[in-house]
Parts: sequence; structure tokens; C-alpha cells
Amino acid sequence: MELDDHAEDLASDLGVDKEEVKDDLQNLVEYSVPVDEAKQSLRRKYGDGQSGGGDTPSAKDIADITPDDSNVTVTGVVLTAGERSIRYQGDDHVIVEGRLADESGVIDYTAWEDFGLEPGETITAGNAGVREWDGEPELNLGESTSLSVDSESLDVPYEVGGEAQLADLRTGDRAVSIEVDVLECERKTIDGRDGETDILSGVFGDESGRLPFTNWDPAPEIEDGGTVRIENAYVQEFRGVPEVNVSEFSTVTALDRRIEVGSDTSTMDVADAVGTGGIYDVEVVGNLLAVRDGSGLIQRCPECYRVVQKGQCRTHGDVDGIDDLRVKAILDDGTGTVTVVLDDELTERVYGGTLEDALEQAREAMDQEVVADRIREHIVGREYRVRGHLSVDEYGANLDAETFEESDDDPAARATAFLEEVDA
Ligand SMILES: [Zn+2]
Repeated sequence: MELDDHAEDLASDLGVDKEEVKDDLQNLVEYSVPVDEAKQSLRRKYGDGQSGGGDTPSAKDIADITPDDSNVTVTGVVLTAGERSIRYQGDDHVIVEGRLADESGVIDYTAWEDFGLEPGETITAGNAGVREWDGEPELNLGESTSLSVDSESLDVPYEVGGEAQLADLRTGDRAVSIEVDVLECERKTIDGRDGETDILSGVFGDESGRLPFTNWDPAPEIEDGGTVRIENAYVQEFRGVPEVNVSEFSTVTALDRRIEVGSDTSTMDVADAVGTGGIYDVEVVGNLLAVRDGSGLIQRCPECYRVVQKGQCRTHGDVDGIDDLRVKAILDDGTGTVTVVLDDELTERVYGGTLEDALEQAREAMDQEVVADRIREHIVGREYRVRGHLSVDEYGANLDAETFEESDDDPAARATAFLEEVDA
């Protein structure tokens, strides 16, 4: 077949102008693209993304899209659109991520091409790819997607824009806007993907709680502290908890208002907290069921600070361990359990003595387990209110306690505490 015939073939298949298709085809062939491949690529360009030909995917409501759909046509309102740079097969790409909504539901999307998506616009994405992420469907808008802005806007029961409170942020959230206090901030030099680079790292707070952050392109407004508004941030998991990422595409503005950090922090059920996959700042209340092995007086490796057993570090072998105190205890609130981890200071409080006291008690008993036993007697069977950082991974749910208070909601616990004071 001559190029002319190929062009005619394509033009009638795709319903586009023959001369236009012929120009494109000529171009590709001149760049030594085999004619069949060139035709495929033009089919994609002109919106027929089915590699074997076939029909345009049917229009679907967002709520009806499942990970089993390979391609769909969908109409919705762009709720958020945030740029982000990723490295893919050695090259940097700017992608746009956000959420799209119709009357039936909301779906996350990633746009691999610059479609100029604007929050508030109603769009129709023809032949959008569907992929699965974390069990949920997501849309891929790529070169085979035809995108049009609809003149008639759809009325959806979702708010346009990414305004969020820290407590609502989850790993995978994109294009979020937050107003926060910079509670902690330090400049670090890291070995980034393009060599040594400076970043800021610290903790943000708002009325709902706190969350750690990384600012990849140090913003003076963040480094100066105070209150800032950040637009187009995204959330990624770091060490088991969500972390706010402020990138070169984010905008940071200093605000002239104060925030009462943590004033709206609410207590969660253990099951709900664990179900989020990790929260930086959370409070749970439950009964202390047991103190786990490896609690009380322990020894840590001087190199890596991990707990050593019988003088052996798993990485550094035979080491002269450093004495320390900690507690790993199981807390249950009826909906689920977490391992609460107390640092040396909180452990001293529940033990009722210092590290020196613990060492002396262990020496006298010639057994360091006596320290954990005394802690068990003090805390097992009581109800505690614990606030801290919850991380969830394959080893389970760990709550690193910042505060550990006996709950005063429980009359039985109050009675026990009272009797103990009387006894003492
Ligand atoms: Zn070690």
C-alpha cells in the first residue's frame, strides 16, 4: 500500500481529515518509524486508543468504575489539580494529580500529559485508563485520552479545592491546601537524586493535630516559622506515618494569624486509628492488658541503638550494651489492640524510680526481669489515655507515646488509684 492509501484507511477509521493524517504519517515515516507502528501511534493521537481497534469505551458514572475496567469515558468536575515532578525511567516528568467527581462519587487521577486541568472545570475524559491502587480504581489520563472541557458544568456534592486539616490527611492525598504553624524545622543536607541538596524537615500543627513535613525546595516562609498557608502539597508515607511533602510546585505564604495547635484533636477508637495506616498525632483510651518481653531494664547497641539480647546486636555482634528503660505494652479498647511504647522518661514514671534505681534493684535480685515485673504490677489491668505517633506495618501497630496518663473516666481505676494512695 502507498502512504496515500494508508492515510485514507486511517482517516476513514478515525473520522478525521485525510490530509492531516497523511502529513503526520509522512512525518513519522521520515523519522524511520515503521508504517504499522506509525499508524498505531496516530490511532492513539486521534483518540482511538484500543490497540486492536474496536469501540470507544462506554461512558461510566464514577461510582461504577472498578479496577477491572481497562478504559472508560468519564465526565466530572476537577476538584483538585496539583503538579508534581517524578523520575520515571531516568527522566524527570511533571505530572498532574488530583480528584475528579460526578454526582455518584470521587476518583483520583494522574495526568501524564499537560491537559491544563483547572479545579472547578467540568471535563469529559474519553478513553481514560483505569489502574488499581491500594484496592481502589484510579484514572490515568495519557496520550490516548481525549480530553474536552464541557461548557455545561456539572453540579456535584463535593467541594472544589483541596482545603484540608492535618488530621484528615492520608498517604496518597494530592494537591492539598493547609494552614499550619511550623512547630519544628531544621535544615538538612541530604544525598538527593541529583547529588547533595538542602531540605527542610520538621513538624506542622493545626487545630486538628500535628504532622511531620519535608520541604524539598526550602521556602523561607517555612524556615522563618510562624503560620503559613501551603497550596498544592502532597502526602507520602515516611516511617509508617503520613508526611506532608512541600515541593517546588507548592506555594507557601506567610499568614498573620495564630493557630491553637491540637485544640480539636479527638480521641479515636483503636480499630479506626489502625485502619488509617498510621497517624502522627492520635489519642486512644484503653485497658492495659500486658507488658511485653523486652520491657523494663534493657540494653541497647552503642552503634545502632537497637535493643541487644545477651550482649548480641543483630547487626554489630558482640557489643557492650548501654543500659536503658522502656516499656512495650498491649493496650485494648474493645475495638482492637496496639503496642504502646514508652520511652525512658515515661518508663521511669510508671516504674516509680530512675535508671539507677532499676540497676540497683536488678543487681540485688541478680535478675533484671524484676524491673519489668514491678512495672507490670503498676500498670496492667488499668485504663490509660495515650497520645502519640501511631505507625502500622507488617509487624503490627505501634504507638510511640508522648503522653501516658491513667484515664480518669473510669471509676474503677480511680478507686484503685485512691486505695493505693491510702495504702502508701
Ligand atoms: Zn547494633
